[in-house]
Amino acid sequence: MLDRLVHLQETDEKIVAFQREEEQIPRELEERERSVGLLEQERSQIKAALEELEKQIGGLNIELDEVKDHQRRCQARALAVKTQREYQAVQRESDIAKKRRGELEGQIKEFLEEKKVIEENYLEVESRAGGEAQTLEKDRSEADSRLKQIQAEREDLEKTRAVEASLIDPLLLGKYQRVFERYRGKGVVRVSGGVCNGCYMTIPPQLYNQVLAQGGVHQCPNCGRIIYVEQA
Ligand SMILES: [Zn+2]
Repeated sequence: MLDRLVHLQETDEKIVAFQREEEQIPRELEERERSVGLLEQERSQIKAALEELEKQIGGLNIELDEVKDHQRRCQARALAVKTQREYQAVQRESDIAKKRRGELEGQIKEFLEEKKVIEENYLEVESRAGGEAQTLEKDRSEADSRLKQIQAEREDLEKTRAVEASLIDPLLLGKYQRVFERYRGKGVVRVSGGVCNGCYMTIPPQLYNQVLAQGGVHQCPNCGRIIYVEQA
């Protein structure tokens, strides 16, 4: 009877291994989805920063054009002035415009350099995000088929298990199942050298002798697992 139970446990352990994998696969995918999502978020943040910078550069260029126009108008007016005072006034205006033009050109140059750095970063993140999204798609479909395969195998095992279980005394089966579920495995364990292979406690000598005699069903007094000895 215990042989059958040990055999049933082998089937149960395979079922549990499949169940664990069935739980693990979606968890891993979720983890990956999260990291792809973060990368995508980073990509769109960089894009927004780039657009903002382009807008600022655009604004500066408009102002630069205005300043250049103003400079041209000053030059034209300088030719038409009649007095020294008028000439000096135009000259002052022209100097201010020139200074502003220099500032704007410097600022634009700085922004263009910054833009170049951000663009390089953007391209790098974009290609990484694209690559990871693609890999994720592939992994997702692989995980799907692996999951279907595992489910089918587990269902087959469950049918086998039902047959195996039907050959075992219901009381013994019930005891075993309770312990197996509690520990999610190892409901029936071997005793070797007087030690329970489930919890590694020493079995009391009297009980150990009973187990050795191989009559009846015994449980480890510490962990409750059904115990047996290997037949010589
Ligand atoms: Zn034990």
